[in-house]
Amino acid sequence: MAAATPSKNDDVPARAGAILDVDLSAVAANWRLLRDRVRPAACAAVVKADAYGLGAQRVAPALRDAGCRLFFVAHPDEGLALAGAVPAAEIAVLNGAVPGSEGDFSAAGIVPVLNSLDDLARWTRHAATLGRVLPAFIHLDTGMNRLGLAPAEQGTLAAEPERLRGVDLRGWITHLACAEIASHPLNADQAGRFRAALARLPGAPASLANSAGIFLGPDYHFDFVRPGCALYGINPTPGTPNPMLPTIKLRARILQVRPVDSPMTVGYGATHTVVRAGKVATIATGYADGYSRSLSGAGHVLVAGRPAPVIGRVSMDLITVDVTDVPEDAIRQGDFAELIGPHRTVDQVAAEAGTIGYEVMTSLGRRYWRRYLPDGLPA
Ligand SMILES: *Cc1c(COP(=O)(O)O)cnc(C)c1O
Repeated sequence: MAAATPSKNDDVPARAGAILDVDLSAVAANWRLLRDRVRPAACAAVVKADAYGLGAQRVAPALRDAGCRLFFVAHPDEGLALAGAVPAAEIAVLNGAVPGSEGDFSAAGIVPVLNSLDDLARWTRHAATLGRVLPAFIHLDTGMNRLGLAPAEQGTLAAEPERLRGVDLRGWITHLACAEIASHPLNADQAGRFRAALARLPGAPASLANSAGIFLGPDYHFDFVRPGCALYGINPTPGTPNPMLPTIKLRARILQVRPVDSPMTVGYGATHTVVRAGKVATIATGYADGYSRSLSGAGHVLVAGRPAPVIGRVSMDLITVDVTDVPEDAIRQGDFAELIGPHRTVDQVAAEAGTIGYEVMTSLGRRYWRRYLPDGLPA
C-alpha cells in the first residue's frame, strides 16, 4: 500500500484519524427553506443536544445570522451555555424549570417552557418575589402524554386566567407524536385539540409543528414552527425525496488493507468468516465515536466511491470493511472512507443501524477532528 498524497481542498493534519465537516451554510439554507415555506408563520430553531450533535455554539450563531430569533433547547444548562452566543434572540428550555431552578432562568434571561399548573404557580411566585414580570412558554399536551398541561389543567387555566398574572406569555406550544407519518389520524386530532384549547385560553402565539409537522401543510403551521432535524439534513418526509440539504460529511482514514482468505475470521467474536480470497480495510472509527455497534455486519462505507460493507464487529476505535471489489491501486494508507455525507446519507446509515437519523447525529463523537465550513462541504 503506497502512502496517500494530500488532496487539495482538504487542509487537515495527516494525524487526524477521522474528520467531521459541518457545513454551516447548508444549515442556514435549510432554515431559510423552512422559513419561506411556513410564511406568514415564523420559524424558530431547535438546537437541543448540542444542535443534534453538530455543535450549538457554532450552529446557533449561524442561524441567528440567517434571521432566526427564537431557539429551543432541552436542558437549562444548554440554555445557559447559549446565552450570549445569540444576542437579541430568545432561548427557551423545553424541559422547563424544576423546583429550585427558577433563579437560574431569571438571572440568565432564559425562558422556561412550563409543563404544568404547578410549574406555572412556581414561576409566578418567583416573578412576584423579584417584583418583575417574567417570560414563559406553556406546553399544552394534546396527545403525546409526555410533557405539558393535561386537558383538565387546560380547563382550569381557561376558567382561571388570573393564574397567568406576572407572566409575559411568549407562546402556547404543543408537540406532535406522529408527524412523520402523514396519514396518521393523531395528527389532525392533535391539531384539533390544540385549536380548541387555544380558543378558550388567553391569546398568545401558538406553535405545533416540528420539522415533519411543517410538511403536513399550512393547517399545522399556526404562528411559529419549531424545526430541529430538518435543519441538520435529516429527511423530514420519510419515504419521499429529502427536501433538505446534507449538512455533514464524516470521513475516517484507512489504516491498513490486508489480504484475507477462507476460512479466516475477522474481528472480535470471529463473527465474520471469509468465504473467498479478498481484501479487508481497517478504518479509524468505532463505537467510541458514535459509529454504532449495531452497524456490525450491517453498515456500508464508501471507499474510492464504491460501497464497502462493514464486516465483523464494530469495535471501540476501528471498523473493518470488505474492499475486495475496490481496485488495488485505488486504496492507499491514509485515504479516507466516507461514512456519512452527500453520497451516504444520515438516514441510510440510521436504517442500517436499526435506528433514526436523530440518534446517528446526536451520537457523533467528540474525538472527530471537526471543521466548520462557511460555504460548502469538500467534494
Ligand atoms: C425536539 C423537539 C422539536 C424538534 O423536532 P424535530 O423532529 O427534530 O424537528 C420540536 N418541538 C419539541 C417539543 C421537541 O422536543
